[in-house]
Amino acid sequence: MMDDAELADRLLAGDRRALSRAITLVESGRTDHRDRAAALLDRLAGEGRQALRLGLSGTPGVGKSTFIEAFGLHLVERAHKVAVLAVDPSSARTGGSILGDKTRMERLTRAPGAFIRPSPSQTELGGVARRTRESIALCEAAGFDTVLIETVGVGQSETMVAEMSDIFVLLLAPGGGDELQGVKRGIMEIADLILVNKADGPLEAEARRTCADYAGALRLLRRREGDAPGFPKALTVSAVSGAGIEEAWAQIGALASWRRENGHWDRRRAAQAGHWFDDAVRHGIMERLRADPRIKAALREARGAVAEGEAAPGAAAARVLTLLFEAAPTPGGP
Ligand code: GDP
Repeated sequence: MMDDAELADRLLAGDRRALSRAITLVESGRTDHRDRAAALLDRLAGEGRQALRLGLSGTPGVGKSTFIEAFGLHLVERAHKVAVLAVDPSSARTGGSILGDKTRMERLTRAPGAFIRPSPSQTELGGVARRTRESIALCEAAGFDTVLIETVGVGQSETMVAEMSDIFVLLLAPGGGDELQGVKRGIMEIADLILVNKADGPLEAEARRTCADYAGALRLLRRREGDAPGFPKALTVSAVSGAGIEEAWAQIGALASWRRENGHWDRRRAAQAGHWFDDAVRHGIMERLRADPRIKAALREARGAVAEGEAAPGAAAARVLTLLFEAAPTPGGP
């Protein structure tokens, strides 16, 4: 049995088994595990190790696994240490995980410089966010210099991953220009780099056209805080042939350097850390409240009344809050 001090030491020494165990603690629903995870994370935070946190999103079939394998191997061959974390919101419903499929990224899985963690089955996206953020911190402490956070292109998971990344990459397939009008618009606005994959063989010409379309659309976007000149950018890649992978990595590096030199990097990290803290406080308050059966019942009753249209959400919440904080002053009160 490894105690937690030893777990921390081994993790800091880069031991992948220790990292796996620590992530299991972070993912656990058990209170004692969560407490141990919190103590561990607090201890590791003092080490100040940082990785490049790279978010990667794309719809199923666009080539995420193939790309991550090629990209990851490219980095590992250049002496980088790469961790891959998967965020799969569909596992919340199915209990299983597409992204956890063992046959994915076989070569990268075997590479000594790589660590791959499939998505845990989760019940709600908020929990996924917290656990993923904590897993990122563990990978950083274990000495990984690049942490790839992969998610499928559905719903809120992309925004969530973008919010925990330093740089966010969107993988797209050739064709699909119609997407420009619809759903993809929102996600394009959070992407730093668009990679049009499958630029090989008969698909290459189409990939180049698609890339040019996206590049044109990106030029129309309002410049955002943290956009280096020329970013966001669109490039073509082929996860199968490897074409464009080196260039993609060079562009990521250029953007990262620019952000570091211009203060955006630290500002973004500080803002993210602030959000995580707020989140943790909110989550902690709700957990503490639900632990009290009287309060839990009051919350349930008020929520029911709101759902039935018998009470307005704001007023019902205010009544529950009065019950909770009778002694405490209300904001804006005397
Ligand atoms: P994911 O669902 O996004 O993880 O996509 P996969 O990596 O599983 O790839 C889906 C399909 O696209 C597979 O049949 C891959 O072989 C194929 N694919 C992935 N990358 C490329 C590429 O660069 N070129 C071509 N031609 N096919 C690719």
